Amino acid sequence: MSVKTNGNEQEFPEGYKDIRCIVCPTGCLVHVENLNGELIIEGHSCKRGEEYAKEEFIAPKRILTTTIRIENGFLPLIPVRSDKPIPKDKLEETLKEIAHKQIEAPIKMGDILIENVLGLDINIIASRDLIEKQ
Ligand code: SF4
Repeated sequence: MSVKTNGNEQEFPEGYKDIRCIVCPTGCLVHVENLNGELIIEGHSCKRGEEYAKEEFIAPKRILTTTIRIENGFLPLIPVRSDKPIPKDKLEETLKEIAHKQIEAPIKMGDILIENVLGLDINIIASRDLIEKQ
């Protein structure tokens, strides 16, 4: 399958990327290229793959997983994750913000530990329960 996206208002990054689609287990290799301002997308087998590869080329995002220090917890750290994908160019800044935090136990899985991190409308949530130190 091959698609040409007319640039119109949108500017695309320079160059090209070969992107392994992870939307389904088929794992198509999708070629995305900016050819003189026109986005060429080839190798995908469906619309979902086209959208995934386009986003990966223009503005890649990732779910962030890391840990936060716990003041009075049964364990010193708790695993956490972002509740939405974070733009890749904001991952480092987000990790720095998280590194400064210290949270108090008890914590329930899914609790919001940092709300609206960096104003991105994304929360950092607990990936497990954590009781207080006895
Ligand atoms: S392009 Fe479509 S069929 Fe291929 S891996 Fe992605 S979602 Fe699956």
